[in-house]
Amino acid sequence: MDHDYPYSLETLAVRAGQERSQFNEHSEALYLTSSFVFDNAAQAAARFSGEEAGNVYSRFTNPTVAAFQDRLAALEGAEACIATASGMSAILSLVMALCSSGDHIVGSTGLFGATQQMLATMMPRFGIQTTFVAQTDVAAWEAAMRPETKLFFLETPSNPLTEIADIAALVSLAHRQGVLVAVDNCFCTPILQRPLDLGADLVVHSATKFLDGQGRVLGGAVAGRKVLTDEVFKFLRTAGPTLSAFNAWVLLKGLETLQIRLEAQSAKALQLATWLEKHPSVARVYYPGLPSHPQFDLARRQQRSGGAIVSFTVKGGRAEAWKVVDHCRLLSITANLGDTKTTLTHPASTTHGRITPEQRAAAGITEALLRIAVGLEAVIDLQNDLQTGLSLL
Ligand SMILES: *Cc1c(COP(=O)(O)O)cnc(C)c1O
Repeated sequence: MDHDYPYSLETLAVRAGQERSQFNEHSEALYLTSSFVFDNAAQAAARFSGEEAGNVYSRFTNPTVAAFQDRLAALEGAEACIATASGMSAILSLVMALCSSGDHIVGSTGLFGATQQMLATMMPRFGIQTTFVAQTDVAAWEAAMRPETKLFFLETPSNPLTEIADIAALVSLAHRQGVLVAVDNCFCTPILQRPLDLGADLVVHSATKFLDGQGRVLGGAVAGRKVLTDEVFKFLRTAGPTLSAFNAWVLLKGLETLQIRLEAQSAKALQLATWLEKHPSVARVYYPGLPSHPQFDLARRQQRSGGAIVSFTVKGGRAEAWKVVDHCRLLSITANLGDTKTTLTHPASTTHGRITPEQRAAAGITEALLRIAVGLEAVIDLQNDLQTGLSLL
């Protein structure tokens, strides 16, 4: 893409990162190859040593993966991006690349279940400790800082309670002590929120979710300043949690419709949240696009809309929540989110089932809580499906 003026996000989502082969294909080419051929022995040596730029082996780089990385970097306004096999491998690669034994991380109690599990139970074996604090309490992040703190890791809005972290406030706190800030931008995607514009050093993605958007493949990415992503690349090329070329190609196609999907799904989520909030069997709705959200003003400043995730508690406990789930015929009972098909989960017994009851309580995940990831179906059909169970409470 040769141009001397900045393109809009929706243009970048369709065009950025594509490099045509000698065949001039219109759609992005899928390079299913594990290795690349060299012209001669000297070139092989130069490519292996890094003296000459170019593809060597698909654990390191692959043109289809590179196209996805460049497109996502353009969308996030990042200097560089490294794609990984899943969202969790993106988070693992980031921590392994940038933290060493003796380092300390501050993360939020609302982090994704597997992220919490990794930081709380696996990383201490490698000498990396994490303190978990409330997402919304900047003073608690400050109090948790130690001289050896290396990284703030946050996820906003959080899953499933949609708590908002004040990215700019946490960045200014972290940067005073040279601490890096990484933001898991899974729920908003660059269409609704660009953490790097607010000063964050790194953005992490589970591309499995909205970036694919159609529930097909696993993928992940770390984007940010090149000095930092270069470290992530060094880890990836040696340790191997690489994104497959096939998945990268699927994700490239997903990015092309990211903006229209996110806008449509957010609009439907707001309608559904508004309906749920008035429902007599619903105790509370968690949605950043509703004025009742405790951080509505911050969300409005930081995000372009409330996003596609709506959580709510029913009146009652696990039995009542499960009754709503079990009477749904349209909403899919599945762990994924960010799909065009609306999904419904009971976090306390599924996605957040492996963390301890204490961690769950600290994160506010009650037995009455349900999470909906709104897709592209008609809102009236979603309401009717939920109404069946809700009307029995
Ligand atoms: C799903 C998810 C992850 C993990 O991604 P995978 O692709 O499943 O490994 C990380 N963070 C958030 C917020 C997620 O929703």
